[in-house]
Amino acid sequence: MSAVIIDGKAIAEEIRNQVAEKVAQRKQTGLSVPGLATVLVGENPASQVYVRSKHKTCEKLGIHSFNHVLPASTPQAEVIALVNELNQDKNVHGILVQLPLPKTLNEEEVLLNISVKKDVDGFHPINIGNLAQKGRTPSFVPCTPAGIIHLLKKNLPSLEGKNAVVLGRSNIVGMPVALLLVRENATVTICHSRSQDLPKITAAADILVASVGKPEMVRADWVKPGAVVIDVGINRVNDPSTEKGYRLVGDVAYDEVSEVASAITPVPGGVGPMTIAMLMQNTLRAAELSDPLG
Ligand code: NDP
Repeated sequence: MSAVIIDGKAIAEEIRNQVAEKVAQRKQTGLSVPGLATVLVGENPASQVYVRSKHKTCEKLGIHSFNHVLPASTPQAEVIALVNELNQDKNVHGILVQLPLPKTLNEEEVLLNISVKKDVDGFHPINIGNLAQKGRTPSFVPCTPAGIIHLLKKNLPSLEGKNAVVLGRSNIVGMPVALLLVRENATVTICHSRSQDLPKITAAADILVASVGKPEMVRADWVKPGAVVIDVGINRVNDPSTEKGYRLVGDVAYDEVSEVASAITPVPGGVGPMTIAMLMQNTLRAAELSDPLG
């Protein structure tokens, strides 16, 4: 079997186009233009790249963006004061505090201060709590997990009753993706570093989500023939044959697993592009919640 390649780049573009269309529609009807504020504390180069690319995407889609950069030495109270100011700002519908924050700051306290209605990252405990509970709806769902579910639904007519195995239980990927799969009526097994006999567990999965951060850990004999495999991992491995001296690989041994799976996401170009697309969708949603269309 040779798996269908799930083209996250193209699917993310589809989402961005839909968001841009709805933003334009809001402008035409005189409704507020969605606004995203980012807060970057310190000079972490990777965070700077992420924030820049969020602003660039906002600009392309017609979303207003507000960039707040603070020195690494900023005291906790000042970061919280900024978050509270943004909570009150009518032009700001979504607030994104870029993580990780410098070690001197209490990340938990900063995130708790973001208004639940502006929590476009979906990490506020109230949003996560609502995601976990039956009959409740979070205002926002975390972006990477939401992107994963979107990719799965593009490839499977229904997730109901499927055996889903999630490798990883982090707050930002593994756990929320597992909660979303439960909401889709899948039967979910969550694995982590203390799980025993992973290949046996994963071999029963109709849907396998790998989010551990271990290069090419999932091998062909871990995968049930015909399974849909979502590879979230982004790992640098040395490769002197490339200009940069490294290449990116996922948590899944792509070449061999694509001979067994029915569909698979590549790395890069699978889950990666979905994260910012879903952030844009969440920012639009935040504006819709505060100022509904029609
Ligand atoms: P974390 O390091 O926070 O979590 C890793 C999880 O994997 C933990 O739950 C850990 O278990 C588990 N784990 C680690 N080693 C093993 C093992 N040998 N066997 C089974 N489970 C194991 O990582 P993240 O969730 O933040 O990220 C995971 C990967 O996804 C990374 O490669 C990251 O770069 C990528 N990523 C990609 C994104 C995107 O595409 N946009 C966004 C976010 C992340 P335990 O809990 O027991 O420690």
